[in-house]
Amino acid sequence: MISHPMGYKIPSDEEIADAIKRALARRGVVNSQRKLAELVRTELKTMDPDYTVAEERVRMLAIDRGLAKLSINARDTLTRTSSNKCPVCSKRMKHIKNLTVYGGSVDLGYRCSKCGYWTGLKARRPTRYIFSLKD
Ligand SMILES: [Zn+2]
Repeated sequence: MISHPMGYKIPSDEEIADAIKRALARRGVVNSQRKLAELVRTELKTMDPDYTVAEERVRMLAIDRGLAKLSINARDTLTRTSSNKCPVCSKRMKHIKNLTVYGGSVDLGYRCSKCGYWTGLKARRPTRYIFSLKD
């Protein structure tokens, strides 16, 4: 029998977005997703002490609502890029193409127009997210 940790509650998107704005306004720059989630949870607990939120949801919301300027560190892997779904924000990415001298084009990889992530034909794995206040 699995028992839930008692008394946690899931805040609305609106409440999380507010908490992200406040955290960024306080800090200016937050140099990891884990740190941003911690700061957001602290803000949320001022609304309701039982509120909590997952790191990924904070990232997705910050990107989706354009609440932060995002910088993504990534490292190369040997795995082929197998999907055009952005691993950072889950939007569909566009092909990066290069025109050839023969008048055709070759695929070089994918780029996400929503969050700025890009990958070559070998997948780049995101390793760190840096969030900062928008200008
Ligand atoms: Zn993306």
